[in-house]
Amino acid sequence: MSPQHLPTHTYFEQLPQPSQEIPLRILFSGCLAGNVCTYENTELAYDHIYQIVKHPKVKAFPFCPEHYAKGTPRLLSDIHGGNGFDVLDGKAKVLATNGEDWTRAMLDAAQKMLEVAQQQQVQLAIMLDISGACGTQTIYLGDRTIAPQNYQKGPGVCAALLIRKGIKVISQRDYATLELLTQKLNPAHKINTTAIDHHQTAWYLDYFKD
Ligand code: SF4
Repeated sequence: MSPQHLPTHTYFEQLPQPSQEIPLRILFSGCLAGNVCTYENTELAYDHIYQIVKHPKVKAFPFCPEHYAKGTPRLLSDIHGGNGFDVLDGKAKVLATNGEDWTRAMLDAAQKMLEVAQQQQVQLAIMLDISGACGTQTIYLGDRTIAPQNYQKGPGVCAALLIRKGIKVISQRDYATLELLTQKLNPAHKINTTAIDHHQTAWYLDYFKD
């Protein structure tokens, strides 16, 4: 079953048809939108997402919560003791690789990202999976710099807050849902029915088999 935070065919159907005059309003992880804001001061190259950022029927709102919280470049940080929902509930912490507790700063950044989403009346968000801030389906389990790297299901802190507030969130790996979005932007687009979302991949199903 698909996670509830992913927009469905029905969700896209009820959205107004976007145009250049009235574009689809999408919040993006800053790094997916071309901002130089990763922890090591680089940008990311996900062309399939960048095409959406630049689409004439999209109004993009990029925001990097970690840059807001700690600037760029910065240390790596990950969630210890749970996922983003657990951080919101005070049951898990965000720690930088030097052991500094960044929990308060990340909660403030999540609140700011939600504020941007609500003020700009975004209709969905596209966020970078795996990040302890922006991840939506899978994030690191504790410190990613310690081998072997381990993973956990669930969102990062900022994605968790957006999801709790009812905002639909897609990751760069949710190819089936991105197909629905592409068709919403270009009604002539023929859906690639072999595309799958991250939770449907062989890796995910094998890694998280209980
Ligand atoms: S994943 Fe989120 S926090 Fe990390 S660089 Fe991208 S926008 Fe910033």
